[in-house]
Amino acid sequence: MANETSLILFKPDAVAKNLVGTVLARFEAEGFTIRGLKMMSLSDEILAEHYAHIAEMPFFPSVRGFMQESPVVALALAGDNVIARVRDLLGPTDSVTAAEGTIRGDFGDKSGDSKMRNICHASDGPETAAEELKRFFGDSELAR
Ligand code: ADP
Repeated sequence: MANETSLILFKPDAVAKNLVGTVLARFEAEGFTIRGLKMMSLSDEILAEHYAHIAEMPFFPSVRGFMQESPVVALALAGDNVIARVRDLLGPTDSVTAAEGTIRGDFGDKSGDSKMRNICHASDGPETAAEELKRFFGDSELAR
């Protein structure tokens, strides 16, 4: 089993619904450990980098606006196979298709914005995790 670190963002819907603690508790219950945790406002620049893979999509301006509705909570989370396991805990992008028991299925939007307002971002592979950790945390902000 690989000891990895994933970059998670609690999106503005999670913050507005007071769900940061509830979702973080699910991660801790899995045995994952916190290496870094902070609240931050996301600039146009960091969002253009972070969402470069959807920058040409027609919905990107809405996603940028959503991600700037409030500060987000950035989390560096470590553990065995944490990257894939957190993606499983989240469920698919669309909260309506996400199964009950998954974070997006239980807490994501169910009334029209289900593909966008889906509670958390999580790294989708080791390479993106390394890039995303650097994007959101300085070395001195991360516990070993
Ligand atoms: P994921 O976050 O599940 O890895 P993507 O990387 O494809 O999904 O998309 C990034 C984010 O953009 C999603 O989490 C969601 O907030 C938003 N998004 C994706 N697809 C759509 C869509 N069709 N309409 C609106 N927002 C979307």
